[in-house]
Amino acid sequence: PPKSPNSRKTQKLKNDVFDYKSNAAKKVDMIAQRRDERRQRQADEKALRDQIHHMEQHDPHYEFRQMINEYRSGIEFKPLKETDPIVENQITVCVRKRPLNDREFNRKEVDVISIAKRNQVIVHEPKHKVDLTKYLENQLFRFDYVFDDTCTNELVYKFTARPLVKTIFEGGMATCFAYGQTGSGKTHTMGGEFKGKSQNFKSGIYGLVAQDVFRFLTHPKYSRMKFMISVSFFEIYGKLVFDLLARKERLRVLEDGKQQVQVVGLTEKVVLTVEHIMDLIQRGSTERTSGQTSANSNSSRSHAVFQIALRKAGSKHIYGKFSLIDLAGNERGADNNKSNRQTQIEGADINRSLLALKECIRALGRKNAHLPFRGSKLTQILRDSFIGENSRTCMIALISPGNFSVDHTLNTLRYADRVKELIAVDHGID
Ligand code: ADP
Ligand code: MG
Repeated sequence: PPKSPNSRKTQKLKNDVFDYKSNAAKKVDMIAQRRDERRQRQADEKALRDQIHHMEQHDPHYEFRQMINEYRSGIEFKPLKETDPIVENQITVCVRKRPLNDREFNRKEVDVISIAKRNQVIVHEPKHKVDLTKYLENQLFRFDYVFDDTCTNELVYKFTARPLVKTIFEGGMATCFAYGQTGSGKTHTMGGEFKGKSQNFKSGIYGLVAQDVFRFLTHPKYSRMKFMISVSFFEIYGKLVFDLLARKERLRVLEDGKQQVQVVGLTEKVVLTVEHIMDLIQRGSTERTSGQTSANSNSSRSHAVFQIALRKAGSKHIYGKFSLIDLAGNERGADNNKSNRQTQIEGADINRSLLALKECIRALGRKNAHLPFRGSKLTQILRDSFIGENSRTCMIALISPGNFSVDHTLNTLRYADRVKELIAVDHGID
C-alpha cells in the first residue's frame, strides 16, 4: 500500500521544514535586531562624537577633562593636614603644585595633576593612540610630602625648612632648594607671595626662616651661647657670581689648597633684628629682578642664594649655616635649536649645575661617597653644606598644573625622584 502522507516520515519532514522556516525567521529577526542595535550604537557614538566636537569648540580639552574627572571620582582624597607628623630626615624631597593661573585658565588648559595623599602625586598625561583616540597615561610618584594648590607658604615651610632651623643651632649645615620650571612658583615659595608687582617677604621661606632664627636666638637653650647672625645674598649666573647686597657687584670664587671655596668680597651683613634681616631680603630680591622684563627675565636663568650664618660671639669660625636657594628654571636644557648660541650655552650651564646638585645631594645621603662638587659653580660654593655629619637638606620641587606644562612637570618629578632614589623611604606612611 502506498505510504500515507501522514506517515511519521512525512510528519518529520514537515516538522523539519517548519523548524527550518521558523529558524530562518528567527535568524532574520535576529539579524534585523543586531542591525538595529548596531545602528543605535553608531547613532549613540556619533551623538557622543558630535557632543564632544561641539564641546571642544568651546573647550579644546573637553574629552581629557572628562577622563580626568572620571579618574578623580574614583579615588579618595586624603591630602596633607596641618597636624600631620613631621618626619626628621637628612634629605627631604617634596612637591608643591600651584593653582592654575589666569593665563592657563584663559587658554582653557586642563589641570592634569591630582594629589590624593600627602605623599603622592599623580600626573594624568594626555596621549593619543595611532588612530587618534585619546587616552590618559596616569603616572604616580611618591615623595616625603606633596602639597596641593590649597597649601599656603606657611604650611609648606612647616614641613620643609622649619625642621632645619634647629640644625644650624646645633652646629650643622642646612640647605633648602626650590626647583622647577620658570613660572612654577619657586620665587613665590622662597621669596613670598606676590601682590601685583610687590611681594610679601614675610610669607616667603627666606623670611620665615629669618623670623624663626631670631625666635631660636632668644630661646633659653641658645641665648647663653651668644650667637652672632649675618646674612649674604648673591646670584650665580653661569660661571659668574653677583652680590645682591652690593648692587650686583661681580665677585670671584676661589678655591684654596684645602678645597675651601671662597666667594671673595661677598657682603656679609651682621643683623641684630628681624626688621634688619627682612629689609635685606627685600633689597636683595628687588636687586635680583631690577632691569629685566618678565618676558625674558634673567632671574629665571640664575640661581639666587640667600645665606644665614651663625657664629659664636668673637669667633670667625662659622658655627652653623642655612642656605636657601631659588634655582634657575630647569626648562633651559630643553630649548635648543630655536634659541641663539648664548642661550644655548646658558642652558647647558644650568643643566650641568642642576645635575651636579643632584649628584651632591645623593652623595650626602650615601655617606663618604665621592662628592662631585666641582661640576658647577653652584655646588662648588655650597660644598661645605654637603659634607659633615650634621648636614641636612630639603628640596621643594614646584610644578605647574596645566596640560601645556606636562612634559616639564614630568621632568621635574623624575629629577626630584632621583634625588631621593637611593635613600630608603620608609616613614610608616603609605
Ligand atoms: P618661578 O619663580 O618658579 O619662575 P614664580 O614664583 O614667579 O615662579 O610664580 C609665577 C607666578 O605664579 C607668580 O605670579 C606667582 O604669584 C604665581 N604663583 C606661584 N605659586 C603660587 C601659589 N602657590 N599660589 C598662588 N600663586 C602662585
Ligand atoms: Mg623666580
